[in-house]
Amino acid sequence: MATTTHDTTWSPDSWRSKPIVQDVTYEDQEHADRVVNKLNRLPPMVSTTEIEKLREQLKQVALGNSFLLQGGDCAELFDYCSQDPIEAKLKVLLQMSLVLTWGARTSVVRIARMAGQYAKPRSKPTEIYEGQEILSFRGDNVNGFDPKDRKADPDRLLGAYFHSAATLNYVRTLLDSGFADLHSPSNWNLSHVRSDAVRGEYQSIVTQLTDALDFMGTVGADTSNATANNALTSVDFFVSHEALLLEYEASLTRHLTSPSTRSKKWYNTGAHFLWIGDRTRQPDGAHIEYIRGIENPVGLKVGPTTEPDKLVEILNRVNPNKEIGKVTLITRFGADKVEKHLPQHIEAVRNAGHIPVWVCDPMHGNTKNASGGVKTRHFVDIIQELSQTFRVHKQCGSKLNGVHFELTGDSVTECVGGSMDLTDEDLSTNYQTYCDPRLNYEQSLDVAFLIAKYYQN
Ligand code: PEP
Ligand code: MN
Repeated sequence: MATTTHDTTWSPDSWRSKPIVQDVTYEDQEHADRVVNKLNRLPPMVSTTEIEKLREQLKQVALGNSFLLQGGDCAELFDYCSQDPIEAKLKVLLQMSLVLTWGARTSVVRIARMAGQYAKPRSKPTEIYEGQEILSFRGDNVNGFDPKDRKADPDRLLGAYFHSAATLNYVRTLLDSGFADLHSPSNWNLSHVRSDAVRGEYQSIVTQLTDALDFMGTVGADTSNATANNALTSVDFFVSHEALLLEYEASLTRHLTSPSTRSKKWYNTGAHFLWIGDRTRQPDGAHIEYIRGIENPVGLKVGPTTEPDKLVEILNRVNPNKEIGKVTLITRFGADKVEKHLPQHIEAVRNAGHIPVWVCDPMHGNTKNASGGVKTRHFVDIIQELSQTFRVHKQCGSKLNGVHFELTGDSVTECVGGSMDLTDEDLSTNYQTYCDPRLNYEQSLDVAFLIAKYYQN
């Protein structure tokens, strides 16, 4: 595995000679340079072994042997780096993956949008606030959400590193301490879930699972022995973010020895998985140039404006050796556009000889304004995009390999519908997001149950 050969035209900084969109300009460039020098010296947050392990697992996902669950905030804030939000997010992702594993009888690869998902692309560089034109909020690693704090501050890049590291450290601590142990799924109680149906369905999985583990204990298969049965007591958990601020990404890109081939390769050591967003995927642009040189598995958002031949051009550039599962294609068309676009993309990719991980992001093509003016997404549209995507893949002789959600473990009110039946009027009760609307805890479990059902059909 991981045999990408590099042409000598790539380096962690070769993107600098390409046209770039969504970049950030700092007033004091010397200050920015000092920060980047410091970042260059900070230690890796993830290891080459973990990166190659994820790459191997994604190969299995691309081959249809496992399912990918990717999810987390649209924009993480530095303030989310705190015990309760981290535990809540880890818990909801683990509960969703338990529902999927049990309901769909498939192993699940978990990648959180977490520990680094700070930078946001914006549709406009400025916005109007109290009659004044001010810079848009670009994410906590660029500027502040407070309208008075919109100047890009290079020290926020260091903030991103340290908040990512602290978040990841706590995730690792929780997992090392048995947070994911299937022998105590009561750790994952269903506080905040109001719907009796969701509670009942989840509880029934936990009861069946506990019975199965008890039975194995009774017949002498000691399932509580961690070394004998690691899969039951611990899980692999990976982190990801959008590779948007290339100065930051390049500063964490290191030339390290591959554990599998023993040769030196370039790894982004700030996350296991990086993706390129819908606004920065120009085939000749800086972001595609950067991402093509790293060994990490990478994602590409694919939208209704992605032309199939351009997609193939990007794939050939990013994955010239056509390694299975190296690239994850995250489609986000909008519920009513799947039928029109997805078949062409599947056909073009297949004809070009690529075998990607096909993932559906049913969030980004379905954003609407609620009656009060806030951004929302309707649960029915999300479910429709998911079910259409499952169906179209099947019709085309392909398979949907995973899902990508904006979600949170908290009981926010940002998306309409779900088993809680939230309405436009409910949105103001606990609308928290600083960027796109997320599924709340209960809505996240709702979609996990539905996916498990679609997957079986
Ligand atoms: C996102 O994932 O938050 C995002 C901005 O998505 P996209 O690039 O697909 O619009
Ligand atoms: Mn988003």
